[in-house]
Amino acid sequence: MARINDHFLKLQAGYLFPEIGRRVAAYASEHPDQAGDIIRCGIGDVTEPLPQVAIEAMHKAVDDQAARETFHGYGPEQGYDWLREQIAKVSYAERGVQVEADEIYVSDGAKCDTGNILDIFGHDNVVAVPDPVYPVYVDTNVMNGNTGEARADGSYEGLLYLACTPENGFVPEPPGQHADLVYLCFPNNPTGAVASREQLERWVAYAKENEAILLYDGAYEAFITEPGIPSSIFAIPGARECAIEFRSFSKQGGFTGTRCGYIVIPKELHAKDAKGNDIPVSRLWSRRHTTKFNGASYIVQRGAAALFSPEGQAQTRALIEHYLGNAAILSEACRKAGLKVWGGKNAPYVWVQTPGGMGSWEFFDKMLHEAHVVITPGAGFGAHGEGFFRISAFNSRENALEVAHRIEKLLS
Ligand SMILES: *Cc1c(COP(=O)(O)O)cnc(C)c1O
Repeated sequence: MARINDHFLKLQAGYLFPEIGRRVAAYASEHPDQAGDIIRCGIGDVTEPLPQVAIEAMHKAVDDQAARETFHGYGPEQGYDWLREQIAKVSYAERGVQVEADEIYVSDGAKCDTGNILDIFGHDNVVAVPDPVYPVYVDTNVMNGNTGEARADGSYEGLLYLACTPENGFVPEPPGQHADLVYLCFPNNPTGAVASREQLERWVAYAKENEAILLYDGAYEAFITEPGIPSSIFAIPGARECAIEFRSFSKQGGFTGTRCGYIVIPKELHAKDAKGNDIPVSRLWSRRHTTKFNGASYIVQRGAAALFSPEGQAQTRALIEHYLGNAAILSEACRKAGLKVWGGKNAPYVWVQTPGGMGSWEFFDKMLHEAHVVITPGAGFGAHGEGFFRISAFNSRENALEVAHRIEKLLS
């Protein structure tokens, strides 16, 4: 009989979002009269329609596919040059960050990229992950056999966890021990924390000293509002020799259902083969990408490219300001209710301590049953998320105001 990849069996059964879905569905079916009242601030999915420039560009691209002269079949696996050049210019060069168009690999989203990147790395790397964190980093390492078994608190043997706590402002310092691959995500999902230039400089110094690679997830880069916070790991001198950056149009352009992202691998980035030779990481990723991926949709790439025009930038900005406005309303409501609040300023997530030391799933149930609001329990993002919850600001203004009202009412 065929054999499975046994590492999959190590995965914890209750993956966060299915478990949330299960509890919401159970409550709704037991209380059908209240089902329509439930407001979802759980999953980090956008709610507002796409910027008009993207809609127009995609309509036009559909028409391109209707005529032989303008039809596009398979495109370059790495993405069309007109998109990669816009990314290099507007997202990097204009902000003083050096990234060449041919160091950008366009994909159908950052989730796939953060998981797929493990294809090109060996299995004996020491992997460091922040805790709490976007669950994809941990689970893809489990699937790849880079960890041991799960422990009772949901963490895995063999991973190096970087505790993110109120004491370090949810930005971990480099550990006192060696790691080969380090995941970092700023602005952070779930805590909304951002790293300062000095903190990122310490991570780059650590990576150089340890010949480690930083896997830097910048999916929320566009939400940074505080001056001086680096928008890219490549804004730090030396990062081109030790970092890969993941980016996405999902949160900044509302592309969660449209699908487009990219990864940046600088030419200077190298890692060792079994014989100790330095191999360019981009060579392996390029080989992987061209073998296992056939390019993001032409129509979608046209939509993404439209976001870089001055008009597109203005529309994107408006979208982000809408969500950040919600985040401010939700943060304020939690503060007024006497809760300790982080994030919400440079990210669409508000990270909150549960009242009275309540467990995060216990508070999830209380919010669902008594306020009909779905939040995300912090424990779902890692053991150090216990005692916290995340509220997503991805919502209509009306819903954000209503959630703010219900939080104040529930806890006053
Ligand atoms: C939403 C998100 C992504 C982006 O996912 P896509 O696959 O591009 O939609 C990546 N990283 C983090 C931390 C996220 O929250």
